Amino acid sequence: METDRNARVRLAQLQLYVNNHINDQYLTPVLTVIVAALLTTWRPLAWVVTWAVVELAIIATYLTCYRRFRAVDRQPHEEPVWARRIAWAHGAHMLSWSSIIVWGWVPGDAANLMFTMLVHLGLVSATVAMSNPHRRLLLSDMSIPMVALLAPPLLSAGAFNTGLAMLGLFYCALMLCVAAKIHQTTAEAIELRLRNEELIARLERQTRIDGLTGVANRNHLLATGNAEIRRASRFGHPMALLMLDIDHFKSINDTHGHLVGDRVIKAVADACALSLRDCDCLGRMGGEEFVAILPETDLGAAVAVAERLRATVEALRLTHEGRPLVTTVSVGVTVLESASEPLANLLSRADVAMYRAKKRGRNCVETEVTSRALAWRPQDVAATV
Ligand code: GH3
Ligand code: MG
Ligand code: MG
Repeated sequence: METDRNARVRLAQLQLYVNNHINDQYLTPVLTVIVAALLTTWRPLAWVVTWAVVELAIIATYLTCYRRFRAVDRQPHEEPVWARRIAWAHGAHMLSWSSIIVWGWVPGDAANLMFTMLVHLGLVSATVAMSNPHRRLLLSDMSIPMVALLAPPLLSAGAFNTGLAMLGLFYCALMLCVAAKIHQTTAEAIELRLRNEELIARLERQTRIDGLTGVANRNHLLATGNAEIRRASRFGHPMALLMLDIDHFKSINDTHGHLVGDRVIKAVADACALSLRDCDCLGRMGGEEFVAILPETDLGAAVAVAERLRATVEALRLTHEGRPLVTTVSVGVTVLESASEPLANLLSRADVAMYRAKKRGRNCVETEVTSRALAWRPQDVAATV
């Protein structure tokens, strides 16, 4: 869990890094042209144009890389691959800017030295501001402009240049401290956000899921039932509701204890959930009583499903301390009979049907419908199963 969260934190840091840097598309091309124009003071136009064109191509490449990264919802395990790709793509940009000191720098020209140093002061500052979310990329983005800031004054001898190098060194150290501090704060904020997201997801799950069985709880089941009634009524489609109650459950509790009873409830819920479609909703109404909402299902199909659930539970081979736990369910079936019929009507008809199944001897399926057009004979079960 902790390792999983660390990987998600690193991915979120990378996302934040890319979100910051995607804004390069507005500023960096303009800055490239301005710096190129200034460079013409010292270098022939053709060289400068070549530098600007190469740099603009590099900018386009790394922005494409960012867009690809953002195009899909990335998984935490992809973070190292993308961090490496981005490090190469953005590193080329840092190298291109810092290459000014190799072919643009004129030794002994104070104005040129100031220009080169100012470009790199700007680069180091922008890196601190924009690359801080991701530590690895922050360090790789800072290293080249820091070397390029310090190299020119160090390469030229003299007290003034040594002073400049010292100032540059002090500035780099200060920026590293600021970057580390901002990185720590962002990392904490990201971690807190992820913890909150996990907590909210868990709480949301708890409001929908029954703690013992993992199927829908009563509230969620009723909400789903009402939503399915609205949908079925709107489109004139069928919809069915099943009510299941475990037979002679009290005797399981009394003979083996409540913990064994809980295990039986869970096993029945698991078996029924596995037998239903993804679009069906199985929920625990309370105790050892379940309701299944079956969208797009008419009475004949609903009885077939009920019979399948009944047979599945009967086939469970549960034991406790070597003794078999005989488990069966009685099932009541009903369907939506008119548009926007209240859910309470369906529940009460399914209840009537379920109690009829109990009376008939349990471990069987009964139906209850009031509309004559829907009347359906239980003996048809064999034909539809
Ligand atoms: P019938 O065949 O008529 O349904 O008989 P029954 O013994 O199953 O009767 P009933 O459905 O009324 O029994 C429900 C019992 O379920 C009563 C209660 O003690 C027990 N029960 C309710 N909730 C839980 C639970 O969460 N865990 C356990 N172990 N037992 C529960
Ligand atoms: Mg019961
Ligand atoms: Mg009961």
